[in-house]
Parts: sequence; structure tokens; C-alpha cells
Amino acid sequence: MSSQRLRRILVVGGGTAGWMSAAVLARFLPAGSVAIELIESDDIGIVGVGEATVPLIQQVNGLLGIDERDFLRATGGTFKLGIEFRDWGRLGLRHFHAFGDYGAPIEGVSPHHHWLKLRELGDVAPLADYSLPTAVARANRFALPPRDFKHAYHFDAGLYARYLRTLAEQRGVRRREGRIVDVRLRAEDGFIESVVMEDGAHVEADFFIDCSGFRALLIGHALGVGFEDWSAWLPCDRALAVPSERVGPTTPYTTSTAREAGWQWRIPLQHRTGNGYVYSSRFTNDDAARRTLLDNLDAPAIGEPRLLQFATGHRRKFWERNCVAIGLAAGFLEPLESTSILLIQTAIARLVEYFPDRRCDARIAQEFNRLSANEWARIRDFLVLHYCLTRRDDSALWRYCASMPLPDSLIGKIGLWRAASRLALQSEESFLEPSWVAIFTGQEVLPERYDPVVDTIAEDRLRRGLQQRREAIRRAVAGMPAHDEFIAQYCAASLPSAIEKNQ
Ligand SMILES: Cc1cc2nc3c(=O)[nH]c(=O)nc-3n(C[C@H](O)[C@H](O)[C@H](O)COP(=O)(O)OP(=O)(O)OC[C@H]3O[C@@H](n4cnc5c(N)ncnc54)[C@H](O)[C@@H]3O)c2cc1C
Repeated sequence: MSSQRLRRILVVGGGTAGWMSAAVLARFLPAGSVAIELIESDDIGIVGVGEATVPLIQQVNGLLGIDERDFLRATGGTFKLGIEFRDWGRLGLRHFHAFGDYGAPIEGVSPHHHWLKLRELGDVAPLADYSLPTAVARANRFALPPRDFKHAYHFDAGLYARYLRTLAEQRGVRRREGRIVDVRLRAEDGFIESVVMEDGAHVEADFFIDCSGFRALLIGHALGVGFEDWSAWLPCDRALAVPSERVGPTTPYTTSTAREAGWQWRIPLQHRTGNGYVYSSRFTNDDAARRTLLDNLDAPAIGEPRLLQFATGHRRKFWERNCVAIGLAAGFLEPLESTSILLIQTAIARLVEYFPDRRCDARIAQEFNRLSANEWARIRDFLVLHYCLTRRDDSALWRYCASMPLPDSLIGKIGLWRAASRLALQSEESFLEPSWVAIFTGQEVLPERYDPVVDTIAEDRLRRGLQQRREAIRRAVAGMPAHDEFIAQYCAASLPSAIEKNQ
């Protein structure tokens, strides 16, 4: 058995995916048992976007022993409690998807059912009034636990990759600089044998992790694994990204504003603001998109917008022979809910769980692929939900989204919500009930009825219970410092000035 152990792993690519994979593997594999090498090319560089996260990032930070303060100082990071969506359901509508729920179940029934009953009785308070993180975010405040919500981060993507690199190198990962120009396959079974560098060197390994970004050098080019294209459901295929000067107060949330042919993100960091317009080239052109982005910044741009082109979907197999693709090499779902770094993390965790030996048994790869495909499809449905619920008809993109054919799995979920205010969640689901409820109710798509158990609770008890929660939220928010104040005391950035200027 031990003779089949992996001896050398090669990670191709040094973006967030590559360095996170290398750092986690170096942490989990017994010291000295496997040599981990990473190749990246400074000439090619990294995609350099990917600045908003979800709370799961705390898990990987914890596993890697990352100190929150140190990491936020080094990456210019800020706290994120969720996303504010503007103009998605209709022009003028704002709703918030927070990292948290709307309170504990009452008589075993989720709070949105109780809220629906109160609405029927004439109470106009929005469901968001029962969400503590929403209230904290709207007040531009922040505090660490104990409290009943989670938090994620905004950070500078380039600085984050650098931070992970330091951690990985401290744990023994070797970095090789240079451009890969060819990939050699073994004649007998088609496994990858080595990659060939521009200087002619052959770098061999038993197992390869393709983190080469959109290029997908190994999984796509060398192994010929095809692509599952989801652009019919998620029509955005381009983004223009540009930083702008910092404006305060620093919001503890990402903003996503729906525009004529897509949507615009705003991600506040300590030293600048990240902005981008994600759009569909079927419904606008690059010049118009550039104008839309620049016309809608809240401070002067720093530099020129950078164009990124992408296809939405994923590789038909994430693991093929002795290669696993992680990060953009595996696929891309647009950044609407900040799920790419999440997908990197879960792929690494799955790889650790299904860690192969040199034979790379196809049955292991098959299960890895099944779980990954499910996870991606569930996230896809959640993203599509944001688009398909719209009632906007002021531009061709939104008219398309309102009437496009949907995946069957999503049709089922929307149908059950409308009929019974319930969510048909399945395995490998990244977004749970409160997230779906936030988008449905936020876009004013309400179900036909609430859970009948709610009618067994006396009306005044119901009103009192919900009133008490609103009051508790008000008190909790009032006791928290402003987000900027918290950052200044806890994790004020210590960025090298050269980096600071260039970001
Ligand atoms: C517009 C946009 C917005 C995004 N926003 C978010 C967000 O808010 N939140 C989030 O979680 N994710 C976001 N993402 C995704 C996120 O940016 C990526 O998932 C993340 O940066 C990981 O990228 P990567 O490491 O897979 O690829 P990259 O960063 O592109 O790295 C690829 C690496 O491969 C190397 N490489 C490539 N070819 C060769 C070669 N021939 N030889 C040697 N080396 C090579 C490169 O040098 C580089 O080191 C966004 C993506 C886009 C496009």
C-alpha cells in the first residue's frame, strides 16, 4: 500500500486557488511525506479580482492558523455581513441578503411563516427587520461574537494570494517561476507525466492540481475535458473591473446594483473601493459598459477599467486521471454571491477527504465529480433565482431573464415556495433556507400561504414575540461601534506604501 503513496504533487498556478490548495495540503499531509511544488508565471499574473467572500472562509483561515487581525491588516480587509441588492426585483427596490437568519423557529416553524401571518394581519414591517446582521449592516456598525450571525470579509485579492503564498512556503511548498509551454502524457494510460517549462525543463509529479485559471492548461488543453455551458441561464459573460478612491463610511457589506445589461459591484476595502460591471455581451458592448461603470462610481477611478471575459459553467469532470482542477480552471459562476473562493475551499476539502494514491482510482474521481457537480448546480440555481424573479422590463437583458427557460431543479424550488412557503433543499447545498427566503421576499415574491401551525399560536403572543425580537435587535445594534471605528482599533491596514499606491 505505502509503495503507492503520492510522492510529488505539482500545483499549476499561483492565484488564490493555487496558493490556497498548496497551503492546505502542506498543512494536512504528514510533514516530509509528499513534496509539493507550485509553478506560476509573473508574466502571466493572476486574475486579481475576487475580493468578496462568504463566512466559510473562516474555516480555511482557522485550519491554516491564520490570525484574523494579521490577515485583515495585510490585505486591507474589511468585514462583510451580506450583500445589498439594488434595483433587482424592480427599479427602486433594495433588499439585503445577510449571513444569518430571521430568528429561532417558533413552535418548530421558521420565522418567515410567522411574519407572513403578521403581514396578513396588516403589519407592514419587512422581514429584514428581524435580521440582526441586516440591521447591523444598515447602521454601518460591526462587532465580533458573541452574537447570532456570521461574518465574511472583503480584501485585496492580490494581497490575499501573497498572504497565502507566505503561509504555504513556510510549510515547505516550493515555488518555481516560469511559463509552462507543454504538457506530457504517459503513453500507457494518458496520465499527466510532466509539464514542460519555457526553458526546456520537465517538471514531473504523481498528481497535478490545475489552478491555471481560465486557461485550464491541464484539465482543458492537455486532458481535453469539455465544458458544461450554463450561459443560457446566466447570460453575463464579461466584466470590467476598476478600483476607485476610498470613500467613507466603509460599509460592512457588498453592494450589487442591477444595471441595463448586468449588475455593478461595490466592495469597500480599507485603502480603496473595488468596483466592477458584470454584463452580457449579447445585450451591450464594451464601450457602453465602460461608460456605465465609470458613470456610476462614487469616487474617482484609479486607473483604467480592466476587461475580463468568461464562460459560465464548469468542466464536465473536475477530476480526470491524475489531475484535479480547482478555481477558475474548474469553471466559473459569476461573482453575484461571491462563490468562487467558496468553491475553491470546498474543492480542496473534498480533495483532502478523497485523497488519492498514485493509481488515482477512477471510482474516487467519479464520486468527487458527482459531489462537485451537485454543488455547482445548486449554486447555479441560487444565482439564476436572482435574475429570473425580476419584474423589470426596461431593457432586453431583464426581459430575457424574466422569461428564460429555467433548470427543472429551480422550477421545483420556486413552485414549492409559491405553494407552501417551503424550500426543497438538497445535499451539497451552499445556501440554506434564510438565503433563499431573503431573495424571494426581497424581490417581493411571496408564497400563497404560510405554515398552518402558525394559526395555533395566539395572535397577541405572535405579535409580542416578533416585537421583542425587533426590540432586541435595536438594542444590540445600538451597543455596537461603527464599522470604521472597529477596524481602526482592531485591524488597521499596514500595507507597504508601494503596494497601496498600485492597488
Ligand atoms: C470579474 C470577476 C469577479 C470576481 N469576484 C469574485 C468575488 O468577489 N469573490 C470570489 O470568491 N471570487 C470572485 N471571482 C473569482 C476569483 O477571482 C477566482 O476564483 C480566484 O481569484 C481564483 O483564481 P485562480 O487562482 O483560479 O486563477 P488566477 O488568479 O487566474 O491564477 C492563475 C495562475 O495560473 C498561472 N498560469 C496560467 N498559465 C500559466 C502558464 N502557462 N505557465 C505558468 N503559470 C501559468 C498564472 O500565472 C496564475 O498564477 C471573480 C472573478 C471574476 C472574473
